[in-house]
Amino acid sequence: MEKVIIITGASRGIGAASALLAAKQNYAVCVNYQNDKAAAEKVVSTIQAAGSKAVAVAADVSKEADVKRLFAVTESELGPITGLVNNAGVLDQQTKFENMSVERWQRIFNINVIGSMLCAREAILRMSTQHGGQGGAIVNVSSTASFIGGPNEYVDYAASKGAIDSLTIGLAKEVAAEGIRVNAVRPGMIYTDIHASGGEPGRVDRLKEAIPMKRGGTAEEVANAIMWLLSEEASYCSGSFIELAGARR
Ligand code: NAP
Repeated sequence: MEKVIIITGASRGIGAASALLAAKQNYAVCVNYQNDKAAAEKVVSTIQAAGSKAVAVAADVSKEADVKRLFAVTESELGPITGLVNNAGVLDQQTKFENMSVERWQRIFNINVIGSMLCAREAILRMSTQHGGQGGAIVNVSSTASFIGGPNEYVDYAASKGAIDSLTIGLAKEVAAEGIRVNAVRPGMIYTDIHASGGEPGRVDRLKEAIPMKRGGTAEEVANAIMWLLSEEASYCSGSFIELAGARR
C-alpha cells in the first residue's frame, strides 16, 4: 500500500524539511499551507522533480471546513491517508503575559491546538481499523516550551504546546487498539522563520550559548525524528516524545 501523508504548515521551516525527507522515503506528500502558495508549490515541484508524488493544498487548520477539504483533496489526489504530521503552528510578538489580548490567545490556541485536533480527528476517522481503515501514525509538533514555559516571551504559545502534549498522551492511548500510533517531537531552538514572527529573527543566535550543545538546531534535524516516528521502525512507539533541543531543558 502506498504511504500517503499530510504535513500541515509545510511551505517552509520544519514542515517543508519533513515533506522533502518524506518524499525521499517514498511517501506521497500533501504539502499544506495557509498563505504562501509560491513557497508550497516550490516544495511540491522539488519533490516532483525527484520523481515522487506531492500536492499543495491551501487550508487554514483552525477552520473545520478547510480541514475536511484538505483531507478530501489529498485522498482524491494521492489515495488513502496513512499518516499525519500536525506541524502548523504560530506564535506572536514576545511580551509579558499581562500585556496579551484575548484575541491573541484565541488565534494561537485555534491554530496550534484546535487545528491539530481537527486534523487528528479527520485522520483517525480515515485510518482507524474501527472505521475500516488500515491504521497509521500521527506525529504532533510540540515544543520544549511546553515545560520551559516561555516566560516574558510567549507563555500563551507554551501553554498551547502543553495542550499538544496532553493530546498526544490521551490520543495515543485511545487509538492504540485501532492501529494508530500517536507521538510527538519537542523541538528546542531551531533556525526557522518562526522567530521573526515573535519579533526577534536572531533569537536562536542570541540564546545559543545557553544551549548545552552551544548551537541551534536545523529543520532537517527535527524532520529526521518526525519521519522516524511516522515510520514502521517506530512500530512499538506510541505516546512518546523526542526532544530535539541540544540537551536544553
Ligand atoms: P515557520 O517557519 O513559521 O512555518 C510555519 C508554517 O505553518 C508555515 O508553513 C505556515 O504556512 C504554516 N501555517 C501557519 N498558520 C497556519 C494555518 N492556520 N493553517 C495552515 N498552515 C499554517 O515555523 P516552524 O519553526 O517551521 O514551526 C513548525 C512547528 O514547529 C510549529 O508547530 C512550531 O510551534 C514548532 N516549533 C518550532 C520551533 C523553532 O524553534 N522553530 C521550536 C519548537 C517548536 P503559510 O506561511 O503559508 O501560512
